[in-house]
Amino acid sequence: MEEIGHYIDGARVAGTSGRFTEVFNPATGEVQARVALATKAEMDAAVAKAAEAQKGWAATNPQRRARVMMRFGQLINEHMDELAELVSREHGKTLPDGRGDVQRGLEVVEVCMGAPALLKGEFTDDGGPGIDLYSMRQPLGVVAGITPFNFPAMIPLWKMAPALACGNAMILKPSERCPSTSLRLAELIKEAGLPDGVLQVVNGDKEAVDAILDNETVQAVGFVGSTPIAQYIYGRAATNGKRAQCFGGAKNHMIIMPDADMDKAADALVGAGFGAAGERCMAISVAVPVGQEAADALVERLVPRIEKLKVGPYTAGDDVDFGPVITAAAKARIEGLVESGVAQGAKLVVDGRGFSLQGYENGFFVGPSYFDNVTPEMDIYREEIFGPVLSQVRADSYDDAVDLIMENAYGNGTAIYTADGDTARDFAHRVNVGMVGINFPIPVPLSYHTFGGWKKSAFGDLNQYGPDAFRFYTRTKTVTARWFSGIKEGGEFNFKAMD
Ligand code: NAD
Repeated sequence: MEEIGHYIDGARVAGTSGRFTEVFNPATGEVQARVALATKAEMDAAVAKAAEAQKGWAATNPQRRARVMMRFGQLINEHMDELAELVSREHGKTLPDGRGDVQRGLEVVEVCMGAPALLKGEFTDDGGPGIDLYSMRQPLGVVAGITPFNFPAMIPLWKMAPALACGNAMILKPSERCPSTSLRLAELIKEAGLPDGVLQVVNGDKEAVDAILDNETVQAVGFVGSTPIAQYIYGRAATNGKRAQCFGGAKNHMIIMPDADMDKAADALVGAGFGAAGERCMAISVAVPVGQEAADALVERLVPRIEKLKVGPYTAGDDVDFGPVITAAAKARIEGLVESGVAQGAKLVVDGRGFSLQGYENGFFVGPSYFDNVTPEMDIYREEIFGPVLSQVRADSYDDAVDLIMENAYGNGTAIYTADGDTARDFAHRVNVGMVGINFPIPVPLSYHTFGGWKKSAFGDLNQYGPDAFRFYTRTKTVTARWFSGIKEGGEFNFKAMD
């Protein structure tokens, strides 16, 4: 069986802990590899090597670092199909989705090709007699990225590209469910010119993560995953004096106003609710039609669309709409939540339970489920299901729909479908959610903006990628310099006042 280790000092190495966890093929349920779980000692050694390598990398000027990003971007493009296949093999998502995963990460690498401009400081000429002020952005040192299973290419690239472009070394701890893509990306960035040791990929579980959080050399931690772990990591990293940004789970609502184009809204809900088996932090999991007429119109359009969805393995071709979920435990949890929805009185309009695919009976497939008449106290509303389940909460008015979203614990993404500009504008301004779509179901901002939720969807300051990432991965230093030849006549008085 394939044994997956780590990537240390520019080469793949086996783990020494003797501890492993299984990597499944989610379509068949078979174990296809085992991945090593690092000990604290292995993690500390990887950090120490990274700290040595970081000195030379920080001294490499930003334009040269950007050239590494350029070559890395080219290599990702050349290896697009190979990387997408690696993603789909371990995650189970369709190949077009796998390519999308790589593509959205590549777009962040492309922004990092502009690192010199993004790292430019500020300058004040003649802030006082003979006095100029300037600020510079300096790398932090060794930083860490801890990433989830659901985007095995995109999120590691969101972490590594800006961190490295800023002159840091990075310890990347990918999800133990999907470790292979990160290792391949490490090989490609070495080929692009990154010096050995500047990116270390260390696989592991809680022991490896805790070793990162307690290591004094690690200056910052960027985490993406579920809310309880995000909160835990944020707390422990901050207590240990590290900069931390920890992005958590979500429950994203879409309001459908009575004036919306109902066909377009239904198409959007099917893609945003069930794409990638609902395993997206920006998936729409709650539809909120306003008024009974809009709700009924939506049910009428959604049911045939959902029933037509094709569920299958990524190897079955590009007409598969979504694949299996990540583990047997995830499948059991999702089906348990669907049961709870029925027991708690929601109307199950499309039932995805008991789904089975010939030849893949042991795969972790879950059929699509659609609930109507969901209320906020039900478990299917309160919990992040992270599966192919769409809940419909009927709202009597626009204000009730907005209040529902405002009172929800999460605040990652949301959307509204409407033909009315005033309503759309009011929604965008009022709602307490980090990313808003107007007639756009999954408003993941483009790579030169930034990505981040509010409320329990994010802990810490600054968003991921874009200009915020360049702030997160650097420290600002401001210099006040006085050169006496610059003191102009009449300026002497002011000069004394400045002392
Ligand atoms: P997870 O929280 O289980 O795991 C994320 C990372 O944390 C992994 O690397 C894992 O090894 C590590 N980890 C797990 N348990 C830990 C523990 N007890 N102590 C220390 N580290 C631990 O998340 P997941 O299941 O891999 O990913 C799905 C979750 O990620 C969903 O909740 C989803 O909404 C969220 N997500 C959020 C965003 C965002 O940007 N807000 C993006 C993608 C996914």
